[in-house]
Amino acid sequence: MKEVRTRFAPSPTGFMHIGNLRSALYEYLVAKSQNGKFILRIEDTDQKREVEGAVQVIYDTLKVCNMHIDEGPQEGGNFGPYTQSERVDLYKKYAQELVDKGEAYYCFCTEERLEKLREEADIRKVAFMYDGHCLKLSKEEIEEKLKNGEPYVIRQKMPKEGSTSYEDLVYGKITVENKLLEDQILLKSDGYPTYNFANVIDDHLMEITHVVRGNEYLSSTPKYLLLYKAFGWESPEYIHLPHIIKEGGKKISKRDGDSTFMDLYNLGYLPEAIINYLALLGWSPADNQEIFSMDELIEKFDVKRINNSPAVYDIKKLDWINAHYIKELSKEDFKKLVLPFLEKEYDLSTKSTEWLDELLSIYQNHISNGSEIVEEVKLFFNNEYNPNEEAQEFMKQDGIDKTIDAFREEINNITEWTIDNISNAINNTKEKSGNKGKMLFMPIRIKTSGQMHGPELANTIYLLGEELVKERLK
Ligand code: GLU
Repeated sequence: MKEVRTRFAPSPTGFMHIGNLRSALYEYLVAKSQNGKFILRIEDTDQKREVEGAVQVIYDTLKVCNMHIDEGPQEGGNFGPYTQSERVDLYKKYAQELVDKGEAYYCFCTEERLEKLREEADIRKVAFMYDGHCLKLSKEEIEEKLKNGEPYVIRQKMPKEGSTSYEDLVYGKITVENKLLEDQILLKSDGYPTYNFANVIDDHLMEITHVVRGNEYLSSTPKYLLLYKAFGWESPEYIHLPHIIKEGGKKISKRDGDSTFMDLYNLGYLPEAIINYLALLGWSPADNQEIFSMDELIEKFDVKRINNSPAVYDIKKLDWINAHYIKELSKEDFKKLVLPFLEKEYDLSTKSTEWLDELLSIYQNHISNGSEIVEEVKLFFNNEYNPNEEAQEFMKQDGIDKTIDAFREEINNITEWTIDNISNAINNTKEKSGNKGKMLFMPIRIKTSGQMHGPELANTIYLLGEELVKERLK
């Protein structure tokens, strides 16, 4: 059997949005689940849109997400170069080959003429399609124009009759009537190829067996198939992925402020969790498993189980998965995750390592991303005492004083500020005051922290610190 080869083909436009990363992941899984190769190809032929440093973002993202690139611009390989701007001569050669075969033609139409055609189409309320004007040029006219240095593009000559079909592995049979296909531009006047041309040339030359990409390409794929046919090449398999939408149906996009991978990463989402989540955004296993390591994904992934209905991006689900991964972290790794957020927000210089470790051990099970720690632990840093109305009401009840008085006495008797000693103080308060349950814990919690809810009471008091607690009990 032929080796499976997939490619991730991002355009270096500056960030890796969630949809891009999901494409990369599915490319990776399609290849790796069949012992194949995963190739990175940089599609930088639209130089206007290119952003400096973007290739590095792509590399950094794939690296932290544990997706190993078999061939690519930095890795090399037998099918390079892997950056399209370095392949321009190749595209020219193949475009010329199509012209020679009568499958493509020179078009010298000016921007003004095309603009007029567009306006006319607008008025008639039909979609603009190039009218094939330059198809009528004679060989002599073409040579004359070329000699005069007139700018030109090369267009694909589409059949005007019949239809073109293919079998998408996710969406099934897709058919487009040929008369609806425009004589699309293959080579632009600056000599650069369009995506529509370059993707075909490269997928063929790089021996890609499975093209995995967003379903915005579903209906233009017949155009690409006609190119394969014109060259006499075998076409790859196609796997188009469903859109990722938000609740309410809108597509996610950076422009609407939706998070990119780096945004999530910088908020303290773990790459393993993001990958796990994205794997489920359009694919599901045969059983109910929801937590997957990359190795498990590779083992279980099956193209047949990619869903063709839109996948809903649900940050709550991502939070749930991320919280799971956070709980599984070692103490050191958890510290590595949250410390930068704490250091940025609070002065830790007066806190002992012991104190910090205790703080982190409490919150490891309580946050769903790294940055959340800042808000969660606020009460241990800002010294604000702001019981809400409900808390204030609670404290007006009869019998509360008994708890507070007993607890104050117990706390003042403590010789060493440890969690165990504080626990004992709470237990003794129970005996002394005769209060238990809510009438024991709640007054102590509100009096010391100002809050009605929080982590373990003794640990909370320990973290608030001796001085502050005694002050508040006064
Ligand atoms: N450069 C294209 C994009 O970023 C790639 C699409 C494809 O995978 O063919 O959308």
